[in-house]
Amino acid sequence: DKPRVAFIGLGNMGGPMAANLVGAGYAVTGFDPSPAAASTAAEAGVTLAGSASAAAQDAQVVITMLPSGKHVLDVYEGRSGDAPVLAAAAPGALLVDCSTIAVDDARAAADAARAAGHRAVDAPVSGGVGGATAGTLTFMVGAADADLEAVRAVLEPMAGRVVHCGDSGAGQAAKICNNMILGISMIAVSEAFVLGERLGLTHQALFDVASTASGQCWSLTTNCPVPGPVPTSPANRDYAPGFASPLMAKDLGLAMTAAETTHTGTRMGELAAAIYREFASGDGAALDFSAIIGAIRDEQNE
Ligand code: NAD
Repeated sequence: DKPRVAFIGLGNMGGPMAANLVGAGYAVTGFDPSPAAASTAAEAGVTLAGSASAAAQDAQVVITMLPSGKHVLDVYEGRSGDAPVLAAAAPGALLVDCSTIAVDDARAAADAARAAGHRAVDAPVSGGVGGATAGTLTFMVGAADADLEAVRAVLEPMAGRVVHCGDSGAGQAAKICNNMILGISMIAVSEAFVLGERLGLTHQALFDVASTASGQCWSLTTNCPVPGPVPTSPANRDYAPGFASPLMAKDLGLAMTAAETTHTGTRMGELAAAIYREFASGDGAALDFSAIIGAIRDEQNE
């Protein structure tokens, strides 16, 4: 018998994820305060509840897909006028947070869940709305070994890959470390293309060299920031995301919070975080993160 699932946060990611659980035969009760998000999920077969705690009532699995750590902790502990989800869920429930949140918040959420007698898992994702819809997300899982089998079973309908990264917080740690590489490497690739332009080098020539040489990376060979060499990259469709710049800015911000609390020197990460923060609050607000090449092109080194 499949466990009953509560799904809290039915937005761009949570909506299609919940729909894939329904498609796999799970009974899913969901909540989202946004009427638009809720009704889209209802059309996909999610049973709507009037609050997060009502959705979680007697649920054996509670999945959250929320904007930030504060949202997750508020929902778990009932700090936004609603009853605590942790009190409503069935005893020993599996609490799976798929949101991207600070490592410290993930550990605090797991501690609170365990103190309430539940099993806690952080399982942030990569793959974006496309992966959520197709059921091919990569889940980065922080969980106790004993819970892994149950976690894999419930994530399977939404997943392409499930990687066990360690205990609570390790999934979030893996996510922000990966995305710090991504943010820095996209800036590096973009600066190289702009410098190449000024040196009279064609995009294709630089691509042909770097994509098969030591400059090779995902930012170049999959999400190439100039149109042409990789026809499927966002640059070929006016930088429609893809992975939107504000989400990159958010993830780099979380990485810098973690760098601060662990006293880690991350100079490139800090620079990338500042560059994306500025871009995301201006021209880049609705664009893929590879559109950063436009900001770099505009910048003159006097
Ligand atoms: P979104 O804003 O579309 O969805 C979040 C939803 O949470 C909204 O519908 C909002 O109404 C709802 N919500 C807010 N407070 C709530 C509450 N108390 N109870 C229930 N629902 C509540 O965001 P999204 O794109 O779906 O992202 C969700 C999370 O996934 C974020 O942490 C984001 O960083 C992460 N993420 C997003 C992507 C992406 O490409 N969109 C990729 C990977 C990870």
